Amino acid sequence: MNHSHEGFHNLRNVDDALARFLQSVRRHHIETEGLMIPRALERVLADDIIAKTEIPLSNRSVVDGFAVRSADTDGATETSPVVLRIMGESRLGEACRGVVKPGGAFAIATGSIVPKGGDCVVPVEEARELAEREVALSMSVKRGQNILHAGEDIAHGKVVLTKGCRLRAQDLGVLKVLGIKNVRVMKKPRVAILSTGSELVERLGSRASNQIVDINRLVLAAKVRQIGGNVIDLGIVKDRKELIINALGKAVKSSDMVLVSGGSSVGQRDLVPSCINSLGRPGMLVHGVAMRPAMPTGLASVGGIPIISLPGFPVSAMFAFLIFGSPMIAKLSGGKPVPEARVRANTLRPIKGVKGYRTFVRVALKNTASGFVAIPVDSQRASVMMSIVAADGFVVVPETTGEIPKGSLVEVTLLT
Ligand code: AMP
Ligand code: MG
Repeated sequence: MNHSHEGFHNLRNVDDALARFLQSVRRHHIETEGLMIPRALERVLADDIIAKTEIPLSNRSVVDGFAVRSADTDGATETSPVVLRIMGESRLGEACRGVVKPGGAFAIATGSIVPKGGDCVVPVEEARELAEREVALSMSVKRGQNILHAGEDIAHGKVVLTKGCRLRAQDLGVLKVLGIKNVRVMKKPRVAILSTGSELVERLGSRASNQIVDINRLVLAAKVRQIGGNVIDLGIVKDRKELIINALGKAVKSSDMVLVSGGSSVGQRDLVPSCINSLGRPGMLVHGVAMRPAMPTGLASVGGIPIISLPGFPVSAMFAFLIFGSPMIAKLSGGKPVPEARVRANTLRPIKGVKGYRTFVRVALKNTASGFVAIPVDSQRASVMMSIVAADGFVVVPETTGEIPKGSLVEVTLLT
């Protein structure tokens, strides 16, 4: 049996490994591009956005009702309403030239302009129209009440979105209302992806017992796209030194970052780390991380291009990507860190990791009356792909204790 981990003498702590890896790339200048607003969803803004107009442009009612002078409503109650004269109406989409004079009221719809002289709006629920164009108001209303004033939503000169933010749907909305048609965003980082392994095929042939379907290239490409990278697919490469060096050479030249899976351990057929070292300097920065899964992960940099040597098992490749790939892509994207989606959950049994290793325990979440419960999935082996397919998320068991006691409240990072 090949206990490949025995070949690793100095496993790095996860945090040290990540810090070392992130530091290895300088924040080189990130190119930008202009995009029409509807196409800019999820993209990283390259400039601050400053309002060159105010929103709303005029005072608007936020309810259906009657625009009045607040002083005229003083003392109004259900039992002794005040009666005002209806002098006109402010309709949606129309300018309102009338003036609310003392003792007068204007009927007004939600979103329409508050006529001059009116300083508040009495909601329709508190108003009863009488004959002879009069209205009885059963509530006293304060100055400014039920009005969204000009510039109250967005003041002229306000910074509404800042450089580095990732544009969400509602952010596109604010750009549109400000009359902005194009925005400048960061170009996406290009991530080259290749799988190594002489056993790998795109799909199983008829005599397939010696073949393995290449899962990593597809899964990693999907993850990269999901978090805002462009994929350069360099295919499957057989376990031969000159082929791997050749493919990695192409990868480094054509991309901003490289993901290479398989052959990352210290066995005879694990050629990737030495190939990376032969490519240029500084080469491998970290080889072997005190984590489960993905212990044989390698982190490298060649000519300023970060390279991750991911273990071949799809579960390991996924965690190597989540822990090291995602933060590096975030850095190369020029964006602010994106918070991970987490939920709190209870544990019914102890959650066991491996002492000395930061263990990422895959769990299913059960929604109960007293909140979520995290249940470890059946198999935690890196060779069992279902451990990430059946899981809703993962729990981090600290290397120091190797176990989380039962009855704990844990953070579950969602596998989105
Ligand atoms: P390695 O890290 O190259 O020793 O591979 C470990 C295990 O993962 C072996 O069983 C490989 O066949 C398998 N494996 C390697 N690369 C892939 C891949 N791209 N997709 C699916 N399985 C893989
Ligand atoms: Mg292999």
